[in-house]
Amino acid sequence: MADTVSVVIVGAGFAGLAMANELLRAGISDFVILEKADRAGGVWRENTYPGAACDVPSPYYSFSYAPKPDWTRRYAGQAQIESYLIDIASDLGERIRYGLEVTDAWFEESDGLWNVRTADGGAIRARIFVPATGQLSRPAMPDIEGRERFEGASFHSAQWRHDCDLRGRRVAVIGAGASAIQFVPRIQPQVAQLTLFQRSAPYILPKPDGEYRSIHHRAFRRLPLLQKLERGLWWTLGEVWTLGITGNRRISAAVEAAARWQLRRQVGSAALRHKLTPDYPIGCKRVLFANDYYPTLTRPNVEVVTERITEITTGGVRTADGVEHAVDVIIYGTGFATQEFLGPMTVRGRAGRELRAVWADGAHAHLGMTVPGFPNMFLMYGPNTNLGTGSIIYMLERQARYIRQAVEVSARNPGGLMEIREEVEQRYDEEIQRRLAGSAWAGCVSWYRSASGRISSNWPGSVSEYSRRTATLSLADFHTTAVPLLD
Ligand SMILES: Cc1cc2nc3c(=O)[nH]c(=O)nc-3n(C[C@H](O)[C@H](O)[C@H](O)COP(=O)(O)OP(=O)(O)OC[C@H]3O[C@@H](n4cnc5c(N)ncnc54)[C@H](O)[C@@H]3O)c2cc1C
Repeated sequence: MADTVSVVIVGAGFAGLAMANELLRAGISDFVILEKADRAGGVWRENTYPGAACDVPSPYYSFSYAPKPDWTRRYAGQAQIESYLIDIASDLGERIRYGLEVTDAWFEESDGLWNVRTADGGAIRARIFVPATGQLSRPAMPDIEGRERFEGASFHSAQWRHDCDLRGRRVAVIGAGASAIQFVPRIQPQVAQLTLFQRSAPYILPKPDGEYRSIHHRAFRRLPLLQKLERGLWWTLGEVWTLGITGNRRISAAVEAAARWQLRRQVGSAALRHKLTPDYPIGCKRVLFANDYYPTLTRPNVEVVTERITEITTGGVRTADGVEHAVDVIIYGTGFATQEFLGPMTVRGRAGRELRAVWADGAHAHLGMTVPGFPNMFLMYGPNTNLGTGSIIYMLERQARYIRQAVEVSARNPGGLMEIREEVEQRYDEEIQRRLAGSAWAGCVSWYRSASGRISSNWPGSVSEYSRRTATLSLADFHTTAVPLLD
């Protein structure tokens, strides 16, 4: 018989660790995290491309209860964020089981337990099931004809081939999103030629980055309030910018003016400026921060191509104007499969219903966490909890707080089930979709939207609203039922 625990968490990224910390802080220790990799870190373990860094300042892009006074930069790099997470995970000891990929999980009606199976054939049972597998963990390759035909090296930015020497090579970068704007300035000085294929230009703001030196570290250690104040400042700016995305024209106009000013100041050529000018309302896609991206694109060994790609050939990339751009290496900066929440894991709820089928027209969940027909399952970083601005970690801490309350309810009523009421979830989803329809995200095609146009990724409000709405778990929102007690 498989082990039974109170809570099984899948994934040891920021979300899984937030959940584990929250449980431990509440004195609950009967849980395990199953992580498919050999260490914690999530996206910060996977994305090792040159220049990888957070784009929310580290005092805010970290756990509120685990400040790190010695970040070396305001926007910490990947290695430092990964080691922050590994440190946090090390405090959880054997509660994290590495190298275990969850293949499927199903709810067993007879005993009210979740059965979780791993790729090695193992299984574990739990009263509460918390998938925390991330929204940006499955790299997406574009559907371009001939991709397999290319004879040079090619890889996705989230699976960087550090063994592939780019020095003196002709390199194509496909995609101009959040990752590309970080690695393009790093690789440009090494390569012979860099051809950037851009489908849509991002808005880019000046990045208020800077080093934190030992004087800052000492100050943050002696006066933790200073770092809290800085955190509060970035939190406030995020909230203000959210107002811009969700309809305040003055704020969005001011941010747009700042982005256009940076473009004018850094790019002299009118033709290049034209290519780099976004053609959709600001905020619709994530607004990015960089000081070195535009200047890099003005270098003589860089070409920005906006023609549509029609195929990949054995030796390069062909565009709609018939030109074949010969290259030695192709780097895909094409983002992630964001609409396949929890994929490729199979999750089955009551009566064996597959979550994939329930979400066939787009994922939805009450507060991004609970789905009718899936009792005692609580998602983290689920549908409509991503942000256009601000720190995801803030949202994850709120989700952990909410789910911890469910775990407490379950501990008081062993064998009890909590299943979100269908009408509660439906009402919530209608509200979220109505609000999203009036937001900047409705104004373009982006990774926030599914093929049907539904926006399943983003939260439409401020993070303070989310915090308020998730502060207290209301049992009235749930069907609560009991199943026969074990033993
Ligand atoms: C390059 C990059 C930069 C980013 N920068 C920012 C930023 O600046 N600010 C911001 O707010 N957000 C940023 N994000 C978004 C980021 O995804 C979140 O901030 C956060 O890291 C999400 O954490 P997570 O734990 O939900 O997911 P992940 O970090 O994806 O972790 C999920 C974990 O689950 C594991 N897992 C998945 N499936 C299984 C399975 N079946 N079985 C077992 N284990 C499994 C994975 O191995 C992984 O360790 C960035 C994302 C990327 C890719």
